[in-house]
Amino acid sequence: MRPPYLLLDIDGVFLPFPDEHGSTPATHARHDVVPAGRSADDPVTVWLHPDHGRLLTDVIRTGLVTPVWCTSWRQDATTLIGPLLGLPDLPHVDLPRPQITTSHPNGYLWKRDHVDAWLADAPVVWIDDDFTGLDHDWAAERTASGMPTLLVQPDPHLGLQPEHLTQVSRHGARSLPTARAA
Ligand SMILES: [Mg+2]
Repeated sequence: MRPPYLLLDIDGVFLPFPDEHGSTPATHARHDVVPAGRSADDPVTVWLHPDHGRLLTDVIRTGLVTPVWCTSWRQDATTLIGPLLGLPDLPHVDLPRPQITTSHPNGYLWKRDHVDAWLADAPVVWIDDDFTGLDHDWAAERTASGMPTLLVQPDPHLGLQPEHLTQVSRHGARSLPTARAA
């Protein structure tokens, strides 16, 4: 059995939201990046945790999951954010660009229909801060249909925590044939 995909969101996961005072976590380092299509004199400020790259690399090296960016940063995840985290070049899900004003135009995460088609019947661990109850229902239905599906949902004001990656490794290990037979 192939390892599950590990789908990685960025905003609210690696890049926590500012608090009500506009402050970002003291644990994170600020960087300026210039996304594709943007002028070099108009950079975007991001803040990233210096340990996240190492923690995620440790998970990737186990071979238990196949990491793929799944974010509205699209290719910029690979070219801008990944290198700042010290990650190898990871592929990305080529998400559509719907004209929407909410993350949940149909009551569930806007990425989900595209991801569902992209995954086909593959197992997955998906880290995103923006799932709704309907997304958790979808995950339960996929799992019940023999496609192990784990949604990991950080608090967007805190972002990714070490225990989230522990959940990822556990799910990956459970998807191994030996673990399933045990
Ligand atoms: Mg997000």
